[in-house]
Amino acid sequence: MSSYSNKITQLFNIDIPLVQGGMIWASGWRLASAVSNAGALGLIGSGSMYPHVLREHIVKCKAATEKPFGVNVPLLYPNIEEHIQTIIDEKVPIVFTSAGNPKTHTQRLKEHGIKVVHVVSSSKFAQKAQEAGCDAVVAEGFEAGGHNGREETTTMVLIPAVVKEVSIPVIAAGGIGIGAQMLAAMVLGAEGVQVGSRFLASHEASSHIHFKNLILQIKEGDTQLSLKKTTPVRLIKNHFFHLIQAAENRGASAEELQEILGRGRAKKGMFEGDVEEGELEVGQVSTLINSIQPAAEIVQEIWRDCVVKSKEVMLDFGF
Ligand code: NDP
Repeated sequence: MSSYSNKITQLFNIDIPLVQGGMIWASGWRLASAVSNAGALGLIGSGSMYPHVLREHIVKCKAATEKPFGVNVPLLYPNIEEHIQTIIDEKVPIVFTSAGNPKTHTQRLKEHGIKVVHVVSSSKFAQKAQEAGCDAVVAEGFEAGGHNGREETTTMVLIPAVVKEVSIPVIAAGGIGIGAQMLAAMVLGAEGVQVGSRFLASHEASSHIHFKNLILQIKEGDTQLSLKKTTPVRLIKNHFFHLIQAAENRGASAEELQEILGRGRAKKGMFEGDVEEGELEVGQVSTLINSIQPAAEIVQEIWRDCVVKSKEVMLDFGF
């Protein structure tokens, strides 16, 4: 395939404008390095890692790839300062921040030559990320798994709205798992895509095999946004989801919901494989995922199908 270049490939020094989501309990050094070695951008998901665990994953990732990789940092993480310092000490070239105010850490990271990208769910927050000095934004629509915006704006609407609002490059996320969806996002004005759910079902993801197998069985409507009173998150409708839904329906307060949630639900579901009592974060696109593949194959398949589809569309339009 001929080489491709745009603002996102240039920003990250990668070959394919595709970023793997930094998903908690799934995205360690094995997944991140496999994606980066395949020519896209791999991210370590630091939200589920204690500071010393993050350092270990960064060191192993550096040993496993010579290509650029990044770290995703949810800004509501309890030991955020330690994570930021580890990233600076270990000279990680790229950081994706999410779930918080981009103003807090962006300038400090940039002073150390680190590229900073912030995840947003609205044009308003995209503007704030640009003002904070971010190099790009990930615009993540309602279809996405895990943490989600309260506004429920779909990717189809969000991407052109954000592209109109900011001058920095936009990476589309939410509902993207196959080549045709990547092409659609690029047609809407994105210069890259972020893919999460599809990589959950990869050999290299540290997600539990029970969770991976369940993703293959997901049908339309099997995931839904939950916990809107606390932190909105898209989950598989398992026993835990229904517990929360019943509590929400009877008007439970945020405190009561927090009590049902308890501690470590995400680990229980996604890492330990308790697919009934644990929290299972995955996007709507899981309905299109039907095999567990090596991460490199996923990258190549999405990119090849995106390029092939673009040529078919051009032909269909008579070019
Ligand atoms: P809980 O409070 O329920 O549990 C904390 C979990 O995180 C435990 O399983 C614990 O592991 C692990 N952990 C890692 N580092 C720390 C630390 N420094 N202090 C305490 N616990 C730590 O939180 P959640 O499981 O709901 O969420 C964990 C993190 O993941 C949060 O920072 C949250 O913002 C982030 N998150 C990110 C998402 C994303 O899309 N990027 C989506 C959802 C959550 P152990 O059991 O081994 O102690």
